[in-house]
Amino acid sequence: MNLDGIGVTSRRTRERLVDKLKDKGIRNANVLDVMRATPRHIFIDEAFSHLSYDDIPVNIGYKQTISQPYVVARMTEAVLDAAPLMRVLEIGTGCGYQTAIIAQLAEEVYSIERIKPLHDKAVANLETLGIENVHLIHGDGSLGYPDKSPYDAIIVTAAPMGIPNELLAQLAQNGRLVIPVGGTAGQELRLITRKKDQFISRLLDHVRFVPLLKGQVKN
Ligand code: SAH
Repeated sequence: MNLDGIGVTSRRTRERLVDKLKDKGIRNANVLDVMRATPRHIFIDEAFSHLSYDDIPVNIGYKQTISQPYVVARMTEAVLDAAPLMRVLEIGTGCGYQTAIIAQLAEEVYSIERIKPLHDKAVANLETLGIENVHLIHGDGSLGYPDKSPYDAIIVTAAPMGIPNELLAQLAQNGRLVIPVGGTAGQELRLITRKKDQFISRLLDHVRFVPLLKGQVKN
């Protein structure tokens, strides 16, 4: 990550956010380090920039939000295994915050977004941070991105009503899928781990994401 020329908000503001993440149960030191180092304000429009280091989701336009830092940290922690993550897929790039976090902990990241202006924003944001191991795709990721599968981890940041089999099929051996499942009233955040052709599912948390929708939006 390259922070030259980025007015990075004071270390103390970001340290306070990291303290909050620790209070809420985030333990992985690598995740905490990356959350501490990554400026969130560059992902947020100026009108809302005062909320950048609060532990809440923030509007990014197009009826979408940048995820709550705790949820980003929780999902990231859940997919980090003892083994290094070589290839990761994210579904729902939004403005690219979760993408930037996981990119610092994985070899190569693919991330797909259906709304073109958000995809474009994410391209610009990751360029600003000098993050180069990410491939951003504009398209419908509701059935994953089989072209580059299998993945060591799949992070889904919009909620389907059920877990698509297509996503399970794109997991590598011991691969992990983290996904919110359910309607707009609230969802279960689930971690699925692949062991040969067995899929072990664990409930991580209760969350609220925007719905995973079909098709793509050009402008
Ligand atoms: N990962 C983002 C969260 C963005 S909100 C972050 O770190 O803040 C979820 C995003 O998923 C929205 O931008 C929405 O447009 C996108 N999305 C919803 N359905 C999708 C689909 N089928 N394919 C790709 N992106 C989708």
